Amino acid sequence: MLEQLRQQVYDMHMELPRYNLVVWTMGNVSARDPETGLIVIKPSGVRFEDLHPEDMVIIDMDANVVEGKYKYSSDTLTHLYVYRHRPDVNGVVHTHSTFATAFAAVGKPIPCFLTGMADEFGGPIPVGGFSLIGGIEIGKVIVESIGSSKAILMQNHGVFTIGKTAKDAVKAAVMAEDAARTSYYAMQLGTPLPISAENVASLYDRYSNVYGQH
Ligand SMILES: [Zn+2]
Repeated sequence: MLEQLRQQVYDMHMELPRYNLVVWTMGNVSARDPETGLIVIKPSGVRFEDLHPEDMVIIDMDANVVEGKYKYSSDTLTHLYVYRHRPDVNGVVHTHSTFATAFAAVGKPIPCFLTGMADEFGGPIPVGGFSLIGGIEIGKVIVESIGSSKAILMQNHGVFTIGKTAKDAVKAAVMAEDAARTSYYAMQLGTPLPISAENVASLYDRYSNVYGQH
């Protein structure tokens, strides 16, 4: 079932170690099939180098396994909560990438100091309050606190990103870590200069509507 989407979700999992966003088994990607509403997600506790496309677990919105031999990721209920409350989202990614998670550990949002951040996120990356792993609690915080951003830091934990597709959400995870890394170094050098809200809005609009091939 959903052979293409399963391959896509597998391919996107391979991007996480490639961009140094994950260690061991930590981190996961899911995608929603817009036609059937089914979700493809990582199996729990399997290392990235041991994953195969056929290992991805297919579930429905109530977390019933539709196809797959493995137990689904322990973050599955979080992903499902996001899909249930954000019909515009068809991809969700979770990592503990180092620099973004360092901001999460001190409970600080990543301010929009960089044009690249304005392009991708249209503002700062917000931080949501502490919640325990495994249930819908994290999902609730994401939905309440992410606003119009594609990324959110979860206090003391890591990063969740969303997108129109799994690829979109993986891109946001790569960009969030890149923004966090540069911001961290900038903060060692001095006080980063703010970009006005007007310029942030203009950069975001250009990147969303003009940049690239259309
Ligand atoms: Zn986590």
